[in-house]
Amino acid sequence: MATLTMVATGDSIITRRLSHQEDTAFTDLVALLRQGQAAFANLELTTPRRPFVPGSESGGMWLRCEPFILDELRWMGFNLFNVATNHATDFTVQGLIDTMEELRARAMVFAGGGMTLGEARQPGYLETKGGRVALLAAASTFGVGAHGADPRSDVGGRPGISPLRFTREYVLDPQRMAAMRDIDEALGTADWNRRRNRYGSKEEEAKDAVRIGEMTFVPGEASAIRTRCDRRDLDEIVRWIGDARRGSDYVLVSLHAHEGAGPTSNSNVPADFIVEAARAFVDAGADAVLGHGSHQLRAVEIYRGKPIFFSLGNFMYMSQTSTNIGGEMYEKLGLPATATPQDVHDARSMKPTGEPISFQADPVYWESVVPRCRFEDGRLSELTLHPVDLGRERRRPDRGSPRLATAEHGRAILGRLAELSAPYGTTIAIEQRGAYAVGVVR
Ligand SMILES: [Zn+2]
Repeated sequence: MATLTMVATGDSIITRRLSHQEDTAFTDLVALLRQGQAAFANLELTTPRRPFVPGSESGGMWLRCEPFILDELRWMGFNLFNVATNHATDFTVQGLIDTMEELRARAMVFAGGGMTLGEARQPGYLETKGGRVALLAAASTFGVGAHGADPRSDVGGRPGISPLRFTREYVLDPQRMAAMRDIDEALGTADWNRRRNRYGSKEEEAKDAVRIGEMTFVPGEASAIRTRCDRRDLDEIVRWIGDARRGSDYVLVSLHAHEGAGPTSNSNVPADFIVEAARAFVDAGADAVLGHGSHQLRAVEIYRGKPIFFSLGNFMYMSQTSTNIGGEMYEKLGLPATATPQDVHDARSMKPTGEPISFQADPVYWESVVPRCRFEDGRLSELTLHPVDLGRERRRPDRGSPRLATAEHGRAILGRLAELSAPYGTTIAIEQRGAYAVGVVR
């Protein structure tokens, strides 16, 4: 088997043309991406056709772009795409269908979406000089009704994304669990659950658990929040990885997951179930797991010789030049009917005084790395990490587009990633290569 070079990037919210840019930090980045025989991008938005019908809810913001953006991504060197994200149905499931048609019309390989669940689960295949590469994709973060379903003999399938659902349990120490049982009795939820169970509720009855609304409390030694993969989804994805293993030389698995440790989201430590899933993917035959969704970097782990990127962070973050935003966003922000998209972006990114808030306030959402993996005869032989700067400080029309970070900035990004990765036993050495700092994973 020959040598394969693979590059991967995190969340791409791309709303502007890039190919006219000529500065070195950008053209060097494009040159790096083009080194990848397999080059992965996470499409964190869709290309719906007109009229743009907004979904009743969005993945946090209604995000769309024109189909020519796909040509821009291809020009940059990308040839593998994920469509399973929380923004897949920002413009209803039709927006996702439109996107998949645009990709197919360009013979661009993608995974994570389909006209049925089976289609969304199945791998996309890319032929390269280094071998045949399979891409599978799933998302744990997605909107109501976004996941696909298979047809039955009497009903059709539902278009959508490939889901990886999970359960969340709130573990309480003995004293707090006793208090929760009191609350359960006082609210009448305990009595209601007992009656439902008597009448044959098919809900799984967790022994010793207290269930209030969507929340399940279980006893433990110390209080904590625990998550676990949905067995059915994990088994199905693993089965398709087995299929890809036999039909290709390399298997890449993409996982879009915003969920963080404990109660957090978009944070720098992944939720338990993400670690469980990623390792299960490798156990099933994945050569690399490409995590994204948290909009900031999470750890790199080398598990059984295979790289797991728990999150590659943001790669393109041009959300502040998005247009055609659902009306609910204006309502939520208390904006008048006369408001325009830039009023939305002002309200979401700064206080009236101009002080940055939310994603705009934290540099970690504006920097990431591009990993370049070399595989020889199916084994990882080299892994380097190339820091990227998305330009938080730049003017809005240029903000969120990627460039290779300066050496100084790059060292800081890699230092932070090294700290996040240390608990997983990963060592990242920082080297100077030409004008840039590069992380080397040994
Ligand atoms: Zn997302």
